[in-house]
Amino acid sequence: MDFLKDAIDSNWIAPVGPHVEAFERELGVLLRLPNVVCVSSGTAAIHLGLLSLGVQKGDEVICSSLTFCASANPIVYCGATPVFVDSEEDSWNVDPHLLEEAIEDRIKKKSKRPKAIVVVHLYGMPANMNAILSIAKKYEISVLEDSAEALGSLYEGKPLGTLGDVGILSFNGNKIITTSGGGALLSPNRNILSRARFLRQEAKESVPYYQHREIGYNYRFSNVLASLGRAQIKVLTERVEKRRAIFEQYYAELTNCEAVSFQPELEGSYSNRWLTVMLFKGHEKAETIRLLLERMNIESRRVWKPMHLQPIFKECAAYLNGVSENLFNYGLCVPSGTSLTSADVSMIANIIKDQLNASSN
Ligand SMILES: *Cc1c(COP(=O)(O)O)cnc(C)c1O
Repeated sequence: MDFLKDAIDSNWIAPVGPHVEAFERELGVLLRLPNVVCVSSGTAAIHLGLLSLGVQKGDEVICSSLTFCASANPIVYCGATPVFVDSEEDSWNVDPHLLEEAIEDRIKKKSKRPKAIVVVHLYGMPANMNAILSIAKKYEISVLEDSAEALGSLYEGKPLGTLGDVGILSFNGNKIITTSGGGALLSPNRNILSRARFLRQEAKESVPYYQHREIGYNYRFSNVLASLGRAQIKVLTERVEKRRAIFEQYYAELTNCEAVSFQPELEGSYSNRWLTVMLFKGHEKAETIRLLLERMNIESRRVWKPMHLQPIFKECAAYLNGVSENLFNYGLCVPSGTSLTSADVSMIANIIKDQLNASSN
């Protein structure tokens, strides 16, 4: 809390101040990047990321279907059209074969390549990045990694969000570290970062008066919230270890239960296990278990409803294999917060086990 006290004492309540720059620097060290741009939310970071990659009106942008709407909405903010691609069973993230099929088909139909690919690392689990990046390279399409849920996760030893052309993080209240609200844009490319810096501050030109040649945004991150972020960075490793331990315990308690499986971790991947997600086999719908837990005052959440099933995106092209729809119907995010005790996890696992055993008899 010393950082917060300093932010208040020094009167830097307004946006912009020394803690924003320090937080950006400290994130850079953590992620092994020369620089990072903090903004007001993860959604804003995706928007600026797409703009900085040159996405504009009339473009198509490919996006994982199984995600939160904030991965796809900024595509529409840019005047572009989302094209959704389903998940693979191996990571629950975008299926590389289907991705390539989608790219080929869009080129055939539109005589133009999609402008970018938004790859989501769902629930902190790394997507199949080697395959995705080689496809992106082959077709010369930029990759934006939506790592909003994946701070602290690694792919072949590298932090998620640092593998593509642009990556983003979220510090929203529900994420692994939080500043109540906020986000960051990551890129190895200085031009992309300086473009994002310019756009986050109303595209204000660097002259001694207010001059604008372009439409910008008020996406700045506040100094007070940055002071919270600096304190939160220090607990990240501890939180990831705790979340992974919670996952390991659920896994151990339910390992003999055939009706349950978990989000798989690919070889070379290290997930922060932001949320432990279970997949129920057979006839047991996730909603039955969710309601059962709710009656006992235990909050669980359904897996994201895929974007291709959202009323707002029903006109968009989608390349499907049924995996994300199955995850939506049979997948459940169980309590995973760092305040859970091992007795809590045992109790929840037992409730689920009893229900599954009862319904299979
Ligand atoms: C939370 C989240 C976002 C958006 O982040 P905000 O900071 O809430 O705007 C984007 N994508 C995914 C996958 C998320 O979970």
